[in-house]
Amino acid sequence: MSQADWANKDFYKVLGVAKDADQAAVKKAYRKLARENHPDSKPGDKVAEDRFKEVAEAYDVIGDAEKRKQYDEMRSMFAGGGFPGGFPGGFGGGRTTGGDMGSFDISDLLGGLFGGGGGGFGGGTGRTRTQRPARGADVETEVTLPFTDAIDGTTVNLRLQSDAPCPTCNGTGGKPGTRPHVCPTCDGAGMVVSSVGGAFSMNETCPECHGRQLVYDEACPTCHGSGRGLSSRTVSARIPAGVKDGQRIRLRGKGAVGEHGGPAGDLLVKVHVAPHKLFGRKGDNLTIDVPVTFDEAALGAEIKVPTLSGSPVTLRVAPGTPNGRVLRVRGRGASRKDGSKGDLLVTVDVQVPATLDEATRAAVTAYREATAGSDPRAALFERSA
Ligand SMILES: [Zn+2]
Ligand SMILES: [Zn+2]
Repeated sequence: MSQADWANKDFYKVLGVAKDADQAAVKKAYRKLARENHPDSKPGDKVAEDRFKEVAEAYDVIGDAEKRKQYDEMRSMFAGGGFPGGFPGGFGGGRTTGGDMGSFDISDLLGGLFGGGGGGFGGGTGRTRTQRPARGADVETEVTLPFTDAIDGTTVNLRLQSDAPCPTCNGTGGKPGTRPHVCPTCDGAGMVVSSVGGAFSMNETCPECHGRQLVYDEACPTCHGSGRGLSSRTVSARIPAGVKDGQRIRLRGKGAVGEHGGPAGDLLVKVHVAPHKLFGRKGDNLTIDVPVTFDEAALGAEIKVPTLSGSPVTLRVAPGTPNGRVLRVRGRGASRKDGSKGDLLVTVDVQVPATLDEATRAAVTAYREATAGSDPRAALFERSA
């Protein structure tokens, strides 16, 4: 059904009631016509079936006092020299100022007729019938970054899937081309009263039309009548430098879109950082184990140490440096929030040669002879008095 149909249809004529007929009379006329033309009572009668749909469509609007008021306003606007032959342009949520009618928001009217859904036809799934702006939901996702990207910061493209109206039926749940009729279970209210027991009863969303008020003879083949679909989108996310493994990054406004002009929710990205083959991470500091020979540690040396980004640095190993000592290279760690950087922590790993050739054996033997008499374990056997 096209938008212009709404304006051109005379639902009073369809139901055979006067324009000022009260709601009870409208309902009575609808019941009678629906019964007469019901597909169950006239199977295979295409004319009756079309008539039944037409009647249901009319009753959906003027059977509801609020929608009827909006429909009447729309029609009087037409009658008052409005737009013969239908609305000009689209219904895309624009505001039309209707002269002596005052301000008249087309999207409000259509939203009302269709039980919600932002911005006109087929916009929503009908889960909510309020038109109040609502913030979109926060969406969570995860990403695994290479070690270096976590240190330097990076931009990642995240593919997100979210609930969206079914693209085939625009969320109505009906097979395209079929017409809606008033839900017989809830009589078009969208709600049913269920008794909880005793004196209590509760309003519940109608199980047949899911609150949409309308049902279709044939369900949408894509969503099987649920009206829900998935949409996938790609969000480009800036990951700041220095992000840690397990940290959550909040990207404002990149979550689910808001309803009725409400703001979008946030996207929360949980970051995993892949390990590096040389470097480790301790908070804002990077760590590395560096092999040092016995003579370098004993005599002192200048050693070249790689850094994650940029050229290697030269470190002075003091004479007599023990195994396991940590040397600090300032400013070569991960970035902090304030833009400063952590340090690179270099752990000395003194190496013992696995094999000795003749020359080195002689040298080490000479060393042993030179140090004879000094027992590194002597302190272990001192008895305290
Ligand atoms: Zn229903
Ligand atoms: Zn569908």
